[in-house]
Amino acid sequence: MICYIAADSTTADARVALTPTTAQALTKLGLELRAPPGLGRASRYADEDYRAAGVTFTDDAAGATAVADLVLRVRKPTPAEIATMKRGAVHLSFLDPFNEAALLAAFAQAGVSAVSLEMIPRTTLAQKMDALSSQASLAGYAAVIQAAARLRKALPMMMTPAGTIMPARVFVLGAGVAGLQAIATAKRLGARVEAFDTRPVVEEQVRSLGAKFVKIDVGQTGQTAGGYAQALTPEQIARQQAGMAKVCAHADIVITTAKVFGRPAPRLVTQAMLAGMQPGSVVVDLAVDTGGNVEGSRPGEEVVTGNGVIILGHANLESTVAAHASQVLAANYAAWITHFWDETAKTLRLDPNDEILKGCLITHDGRIVHPQFAK
Ligand code: NAD
Repeated sequence: MICYIAADSTTADARVALTPTTAQALTKLGLELRAPPGLGRASRYADEDYRAAGVTFTDDAAGATAVADLVLRVRKPTPAEIATMKRGAVHLSFLDPFNEAALLAAFAQAGVSAVSLEMIPRTTLAQKMDALSSQASLAGYAAVIQAAARLRKALPMMMTPAGTIMPARVFVLGAGVAGLQAIATAKRLGARVEAFDTRPVVEEQVRSLGAKFVKIDVGQTGQTAGGYAQALTPEQIARQQAGMAKVCAHADIVITTAKVFGRPAPRLVTQAMLAGMQPGSVVVDLAVDTGGNVEGSRPGEEVVTGNGVIILGHANLESTVAAHASQVLAANYAAWITHFWDETAKTLRLDPNDEILKGCLITHDGRIVHPQFAK
């Protein structure tokens, strides 16, 4: 079975879908690996190491795609790239399926089985292939590092003969995978950390990291069977904003990670709240790619408000730690492939009754098969 690892053509993402270590594991399984030269350069993985792990390099991306039974890439392909794929091949990547109806149609038309990493169920069995978690965790870490680098203050308390430096105050909004890692990172750096999430179960997790859980009464909230937050009503959001305003005003760093799966992110930090913050404070909006939690944040941009608050709208913070992001992402791909690998036939066997496959297979056999996107 031929597996082509494609370079991303649409973004400046430094991550890569395969590392030399995972290449070695996939070669051992029986896959024949092909890739463009310099595949892992931006993540600091060398061609020689890939070669030693069994990867063959080719400059002919279209030709390699046309014969591949399996294509791995980090981000979604272009329709032209899909059109070059072989019918019956499997394509594994992040797909942003809620916003890419035309791309899903292109996959169906090309007869390609498209697997969306975002849709892999968040179950214990699928934990090893949970790419959303592996990447969110690093994004949460990187958010604190990026904010600390912009803040003209130290994070820890320092008692010096020249006086005491007070610890920086960090407020983390949304304590899912990214938020909890942001809390842990800010705590390790010595900041005073507060956090809020609408899912009540999170309070204990926040406390166990040594942070304070901000109490805001927004009324009845809940989570879906998959553990995702349920969307709030406009009235609930207004109550949350009122409760958050004072916390934001005191914070040196605000990190927002509040998302509602499959829907635009709630707009939680308003212009008025930003206006109440200290000049030089830093806000990092991790939800910027799904609409943003912060009024005025822009994907890929650093915005400075009239009163000097810096808003970082980095849509892809995990890419700033690309070597490690690629390490765990490639392990996610390898876990998925291993789960569906037929040892005897040395090929992928996609069992339609497999619960993981039912969750993440979007197109198959010339049609959109996932019920959430079939309409
Ligand atoms: P996410 O990225 O969808 O959202 C991030 C956080 O924002 C969530 O904690 C959510 O509750 C919160 N949020 C949403 N609206 C908010 C608002 N108005 N104000 C404040 N916070 C708000 O979530 P995620 O990090 O991907 O995690 C989702 C769930 O999946 C969690 O319950 C997590 O424990 C669970 N999970 C389970 C597994 C597993 O069992 N294998 C793996 C990973 C994650």
